[in-house]
Amino acid sequence: MADIIQLLPDHVANQIAAGEVVQRPASVVKELLENAIDAGASTIKLIIKDAGKTLVQVIDDGKGMSATDARLSFERHATSKIRTADDLFQLHTKGFRGEALASIAAIAHVELKTKQEQDDVGTAIVIEGSNVVSQEVVVTPKGTSISVKNLFFNIPARRNFLKSNTVELRHVIDEFHRVSLAHPNISFALYNNGSESFNLPISNYRQRIVNIFGNKTNEKLVPVEENTEVLEISGFVGKPEFAKKTRGEQYFFVNNRFIKSAYLNHAIASAFDGLLKSGTHPSYFLNLEVDPQTIDINIHPTKTEIKFDDEHTLYALLRSAVKHSLGQFNIAPVLDFERDPSLDTPYSYKNNETSVPKVEVDRSFNPFQEETKAKGTSYKKEPAANWESLYVGLESKGTKTHHDFSEVHFESEESTASIFDDEKQIENVNTTYQLHNKYIVSTIKSGMLVIDQHRAHQRIVYEELLKNMTIKGAISQQLLFPLQLHFSTQEITIVKQLKDDLENTGFVFSNFNDESLEITGVPVSVPESEVSIILEQLISDVENEVPDSNFSAIDLLAKSMAKSLAIKTGQSLQKDEQEHLVNKLFACKEPNITPANRSTFITLSVDELDKKFI
Ligand code: ADP
Ligand code: MG
Repeated sequence: MADIIQLLPDHVANQIAAGEVVQRPASVVKELLENAIDAGASTIKLIIKDAGKTLVQVIDDGKGMSATDARLSFERHATSKIRTADDLFQLHTKGFRGEALASIAAIAHVELKTKQEQDDVGTAIVIEGSNVVSQEVVVTPKGTSISVKNLFFNIPARRNFLKSNTVELRHVIDEFHRVSLAHPNISFALYNNGSESFNLPISNYRQRIVNIFGNKTNEKLVPVEENTEVLEISGFVGKPEFAKKTRGEQYFFVNNRFIKSAYLNHAIASAFDGLLKSGTHPSYFLNLEVDPQTIDINIHPTKTEIKFDDEHTLYALLRSAVKHSLGQFNIAPVLDFERDPSLDTPYSYKNNETSVPKVEVDRSFNPFQEETKAKGTSYKKEPAANWESLYVGLESKGTKTHHDFSEVHFESEESTASIFDDEKQIENVNTTYQLHNKYIVSTIKSGMLVIDQHRAHQRIVYEELLKNMTIKGAISQQLLFPLQLHFSTQEITIVKQLKDDLENTGFVFSNFNDESLEITGVPVSVPESEVSIILEQLISDVENEVPDSNFSAIDLLAKSMAKSLAIKTGQSLQKDEQEHLVNKLFACKEPNITPANRSTFITLSVDELDKKFI
């Protein structure tokens, strides 16, 4: 048969990548502003027309580009910011993937003008749908100006999916707020349809917040400051009496990068426990400085999610720091709580136990197993072809053969009520080892296997959830008292859309209002305290989702819940838990990737190892 595999032409690859990077005008705003910051600009202007649908232009006074670099900057994987994979762990810039400009140029009309300080003249380039239309020498001031016009001009489906100008403008302004809040040392201006909306001079952080949100904000702010060996926290929280019904003014920055984290949001909310009127949300503007080596910002294409090595510690520190500030500024009666003494500086991360956050997730998540039994529905796992092929050939004398092992595994699966139940049947051959509470290392016939525990468990939970949602057979656990949760009207609409699917996982809703909902039942194994985190995560995932034809509510729900429920990095696993995780993973349909298409494991062959020893 003739060969049928072809490499995608660059412009097609760029369009596909654009789907990840550019979801709406606000995504372009984010990428261009970040590039200007990376270029060391001290003044950045953002100009938009029709909420960015017609024009997004960013003008900076940064270091500019040479003629060659200007041309290269539109190539995919063209970046000046990393050279080796190791650089990834020392990142101090915003961008590093080198795909933003290439992606944007694939789906818009782009005009770039740029000049470096030492040069007399600069370069102007026009690109339309990845085609270079012209490149000229121009007179232009030092720095870079990029105009992105007619976004999605060549992908009508995407253009039609853009929301009204009001909604898109909201997203653009949100992005502008996030970036300008993270950089008070840079002056920013925003011009919308010809008139100036914001003009933010260089200032301190408090002043920047006030310049954005209005003079009245000043009296509402309570400073938060905490320096420990693991992280530095600085910024402000809003006084409880000014808490809002919607969760608008909530900003988390990690190393000056805006991130979303339902988990850390919960840490702050819990510091406000008892101080807020029900249904209101605290404002916060918090910066976390951590060692870049302890985070993984590569986790999400649009980079609003970060993976922390030690989330539990961050949670405890954050909660305690906020509580402390509220107490110190007499916002809360001091007797209401005790400051965690382990936080007093000098704080030694290694020697002190931090208090474990109240929220406890049942990591051993497999809520529907019993239901499946009860209903007599039995879904046999697919024959684990991948699993077997990896392990075949490992038999050694004196140990059980792996073939037996895999059989035992499949039987046990029917009878277990929890992924990590202590299962005596699984007698493994001591082939797993946990590294840094993060990776599980095991041997395979060709060498070794390194599994990312969090990602692997996401895959497992995801497939289990999908199955249960499709067979609609989940049991739910009745709550003693209905749980009342408050959200904005928009958030409630999202939950409503997903109501049926959520019910298939075991949620029971009794009441929906404009701004609140009531839950009377939750999936087994989902602790009550986790419910609001899961829903918040879900809402934020839906909001970030690119609405395209492949959008599937069930899939999104399963992905989101899998993310919330999967065991985390940092959790130590017993031998049998490790083995069980490995087994479960390779019994999955697609064991090698997470639901978000990231690798769950890597293999290192003996050949590769040999090469390292040359
Ligand atoms: P990344 O930011 O991930 O490196 P981009 O596609 O956003 O990738 O940009 C590609 C390269 O173009 C950057 O690495 C940088 O060298 C250059 N560049 C982009 N925007 C600017 C700018 N405003 N000023 C100077 N250089 C820029
Ligand atoms: Mg960039």
